[in-house]
Amino acid sequence: MTIDPANLRIVTYPDPALREKAAPVGEVTPEARAVAERMIELMRRADGIGLAAPQVGIAWRLFVCDVPPAEDRPLDADPPEATDGPMVCFDPEISAFSDELVSREEGCLSLPEIVGDVRRPSEITLAATGLDGERFTKRLGGLLARCAQHEIDHLDGVLIIDKMQQLSRMKNRRAIRDLESLAGAR
Ligand code: ZN
Repeated sequence: MTIDPANLRIVTYPDPALREKAAPVGEVTPEARAVAERMIELMRRADGIGLAAPQVGIAWRLFVCDVPPAEDRPLDADPPEATDGPMVCFDPEISAFSDELVSREEGCLSLPEIVGDVRRPSEITLAATGLDGERFTKRLGGLLARCAQHEIDHLDGVLIIDKMQQLSRMKNRRAIRDLESLAGAR
């Protein structure tokens, strides 16, 4: 498969690419790096903090994220809750979850107009391969831990509308139906 990164676009629900289970990337080739760099560009252009490869129509286990530090998430927090610039994660795996669960509102670049509360572990330990091809392991907390879990869900075809708490699901029922009928009309 030859991918032209310039042609990649963010796909929206109910595009079937969002429901595929993504395959491991393995070696970080120049093509894989070019895709990751293009994803960073698309994420920034859309004002997002994370983007997974299935969201650009590629069934690879890859996500990018960029969670800027803020007053309530300084860079030196332990574990970190923000990134120092974009982070690229090939073949990410979560090896540990905290027992503590927190509920917070999430949105998704592939689900325009939809936001809802999702409950997730507050801290995780993430292993992944970076842009340099080296494997790394990191503990993550706060919004960064949430973002990584959201993106890894995408790699398994899971969306926030599957995980939202009941009230959010009801609130978004119409918006979800609108996206579905928009796609049906095309
Ligand atoms: Zn998403």
